[in-house]
Amino acid sequence: MIIEVPRGYTFVKEENIIAFEENGKLKLLRRHGKFDEIMYDITYRQKGRNKCYYCGRVNSEIEPLKITLDHIYPRSLGGPTIPQNLIPACRKCNSTKENMTPEQFRAYRRIKVVEQKELFRREYFRTKYFQERWVHILPDEWISQTPISDLLISIDLQDTNTTKYKKIKEYYTRCQQFPNPIIVDNRGFVLDGFTIVLYAKNNRIREIPTIVLENVEVIF
Ligand SMILES: [Zn+2]
Repeated sequence: MIIEVPRGYTFVKEENIIAFEENGKLKLLRRHGKFDEIMYDITYRQKGRNKCYYCGRVNSEIEPLKITLDHIYPRSLGGPTIPQNLIPACRKCNSTKENMTPEQFRAYRRIKVVEQKELFRREYFRTKYFQERWVHILPDEWISQTPISDLLISIDLQDTNTTKYKKIKEYYTRCQQFPNPIIVDNRGFVLDGFTIVLYAKNNRIREIPTIVLENVEVIF
């Protein structure tokens, strides 16, 4: 997957440049644990901080609107934090959407009658806990399978006594699948999903569903 990086883009943190654009590529200096932050920042630069993409309302002095970034495919369903999956939304739209899939939210917004909207929401809340298998929800073309031996990792992974690890274990045991794909750069350098890699290593799972960002590169 190619992410759109604004020309001349730089991301500065504590007076250090930790990411920058070069020939359409996003270069990340080592791994600073700021990957999500950079993805949010790029999205705001592309799509702005002033307009809700769902209801079309615009932030103004008369009607101040707090704009946040919504995960189009919700995080709880494996939706990654990358510009393709982020969209500026006002608080009202963001909280109304909750963890609906884009299709569900489109269908919900098409309903005009208040009572029917309520019915839709009730039905959604009744079934939402059954639809957590992201494999059926994220676009197929985003995901590939990466052999674990091809992955590069900069940090020493060992701690299995974390809430995150236990959640992944619980999810994998129940669904025989990871709760979300991991994200790597063009050489297989892991940007997001370290705990998943650790779990896979410990359990001899050979391949991990991966989103490969072809124009992102970690440099040293
Ligand atoms: Zn809105």
